[in-house]
Amino acid sequence: MTLPPGPQVLTDLPLAIDPAEVLRFQGYKQGRDVPSPEVRALFEEALAEGRRLMAPRVVARWAPVTRRRADGVEVDGESLAIPSIGPRWGAVAHVAAAVCTIGEALERRVSALWEARELPLASMLDSVGSGAVESLAEYVNDLLCRQGLPSLRVTNRISPGYGEWDVAEQRPLFRLCPGDAIGVTLNAACVMTPGKSISLLVGAGPDARVDHYFSQCARCWMRDCAYRRAPPRASIRRA
Ligand code: SF4
Repeated sequence: MTLPPGPQVLTDLPLAIDPAEVLRFQGYKQGRDVPSPEVRALFEEALAEGRRLMAPRVVARWAPVTRRRADGVEVDGESLAIPSIGPRWGAVAHVAAAVCTIGEALERRVSALWEARELPLASMLDSVGSGAVESLAEYVNDLLCRQGLPSLRVTNRISPGYGEWDVAEQRPLFRLCPGDAIGVTLNAACVMTPGKSISLLVGAGPDARVDHYFSQCARCWMRDCAYRRAPPRASIRRA
């Protein structure tokens, strides 16, 4: 197994959008709240518009870990401070940093809809964008897992600003994997532009602890993976 050297820029990516995820962004609780026919119609309208506007792009880069600590890793001269990552990931020998985005066109359309006071469609389209970029980040996690196979086990993704990982850690992550290759920038407050972007980190190693917060395989898009650890249960399929 050889991990791809240097940054990988991926465009023209398959992208599936999970309606349940979009409705979750709208405040619906899965298994409890049932959307009305009007809401379903609004979702379909926003989905069609979103598909037209999205341009998924990803940049990802693998690098060897030079030092592991209970609360961080050192990679390529960068020190990433990540609470409890040592016990959560175990013995990782490599990390991959990635930045993904669906581009800025959807956000511009949402702003125009707000200004035109088309609020329900604006809100639903914004949720479609949020669902899409989450789906893209999961696709990237699956892709990185596939790149590590068969000898490396790849962990679940984590992102600065989520859980206990400080958002300021966007800076070392962006130094490891600059987002400008796909048009994603970071401001002084560590907020990404376009807004519908996600940065992430995974670890990999022969003895890495995987699935530390959910089963990656259970919703992975890769149909015929010989290394699958759990049967697929999600309905989303991208390939
Ligand atoms: S099925 Fe599981 S092991 Fe195979 S690529 Fe997907 S997440 Fe990785």
